[in-house]
Amino acid sequence: MSVAVDEIDIAIIGAGIVGIAAAAYLAEVGQKVTVIDRTGICEETSSGNAAAFAFSDVLPLAHKGMIGNVPKWLADPLGPLSIPPAYLPRLLPWLYRFWRAGSSANYEASLAAQAGLMKLAEQEWASLMARSGTGSMLREDGALELYESDDEFRAALPSWEARERFGISGRHLGKAELAGYQPGLSDRFTRGTFVPGWKTVSDPQDLGKAIWRHAEGMGARFLKGDVALVRPVDGRVLIQLKQGRTLFAQKVLIAAGAWSHKLTRQLGDIIPLETERGYNTTLPVTAFEVKRQLTFPGHGFVITPLSTGLRIGGAVELGGLTRRPDYARSRAMLEKAKKFLPGLDPSGGREWMGFRPSLPDSLPVIGGSQQHPNIHYAFGHGHLGLTQSAATGRLIRDRMLGNPLPLDIAPFSAQRF
Ligand SMILES: Cc1cc2nc3c(=O)[nH]c(=O)nc-3n(C[C@H](O)[C@H](O)[C@H](O)COP(=O)(O)OP(=O)(O)OC[C@H]3O[C@@H](n4cnc5c(N)ncnc54)[C@H](O)[C@@H]3O)c2cc1C
Repeated sequence: MSVAVDEIDIAIIGAGIVGIAAAAYLAEVGQKVTVIDRTGICEETSSGNAAAFAFSDVLPLAHKGMIGNVPKWLADPLGPLSIPPAYLPRLLPWLYRFWRAGSSANYEASLAAQAGLMKLAEQEWASLMARSGTGSMLREDGALELYESDDEFRAALPSWEARERFGISGRHLGKAELAGYQPGLSDRFTRGTFVPGWKTVSDPQDLGKAIWRHAEGMGARFLKGDVALVRPVDGRVLIQLKQGRTLFAQKVLIAAGAWSHKLTRQLGDIIPLETERGYNTTLPVTAFEVKRQLTFPGHGFVITPLSTGLRIGGAVELGGLTRRPDYARSRAMLEKAKKFLPGLDPSGGREWMGFRPSLPDSLPVIGGSQQHPNIHYAFGHGHLGLTQSAATGRLIRDRMLGNPLPLDIAPFSAQRF
């Protein structure tokens, strides 16, 4: 039986928001791009996230305030953080690296790198939205962080001081001011912080599909396929699909989200990528009138008003790629949301789980294989993949084409581990 062999210029493996953004940036400058995905355009983690352009979220997760909350969070089986006991042995090396990322020196370096990437992220999204005609999907209402005690509020202040060093500010509010920002809140909230630089989009999957239409209009192509093998052969890259088809590409970008390390391993790059599984429920738009994204730092979840519904969720489950979803987590957050917004109608929701692709220092990989210069990497954006996808697309385009880079990408190297 003969097997068809296709020749392509640039193959992007993964049609999540990161792969799509890279496809758009490359197609815009005339590059011939084929995006390969086993599902479709923005059908996995990029479909159901909380829709935030979290440009002010520059603190690495392993910051001191967060580590202090871990024992309390782990004690609640449906709380903001869970680790299934059976998965713990596999997770220990990642957890050790995560803990080390919280040391002062490592933390400061990650903070500076993240702040630089976020600045570029904001510029690049503004520019990509203008070019792709998606500006009407942007919401610039800011976000409201809510605290249930003065102690909780005071514990958050050092993280605000850290952000202020990078020009990111919040407006701290007393109890009496909260209703002006969100009517109908429970009385339990005593303090809040309004974050004006925080933006959201009307629906993350709609935005991803619109960016794809823009890329497609510039010549990008989609190929449905599950990539089993990536191997450099004589200056090109062989891509073998599980369905039996074989392709040869001049250049490859691996942007396969939480599954990327399975492909980089074939190229000799062992990358400590884990997944922070997250859960939510999307209620009908009419469930409650939420003015802007509401965040509950003590509970690890957010409420986002979308054009397509009211999305309630977050949380982190460090449980790997194959375990079945436990939607009791979505329901636990919905229960809390009902207490936080007493008028909320919790009926008619759609439950979802997604796989955040996470590296222990909270920075993505934006770089490539050391041995094979025509193989590039873009994954591991954790909680911030939507926010950082346009900047990543820009950086990957420039790296692939040998253009000057707008920032130093050494902190995002695949070889840093
Ligand atoms: C609950 C939750 C809330 C979040 N909220 C936000 C937020 O508000 N703001 C924000 O910026 N980020 C948020 N995130 C994070 C964000 O969703 C992710 O960082 C982002 O979606 C990752 O995009 P990606 O393109 O890297 O991966 P994905 O969207 O997972 O895409 C990877 C693609 O690769 C494909 N793939 C994998 N392996 C193969 C293979 N071998 N062959 C072919 N195809 C393959 C998959 O099918 C998939 O389509 C949230 C995440 C969760 C879970």
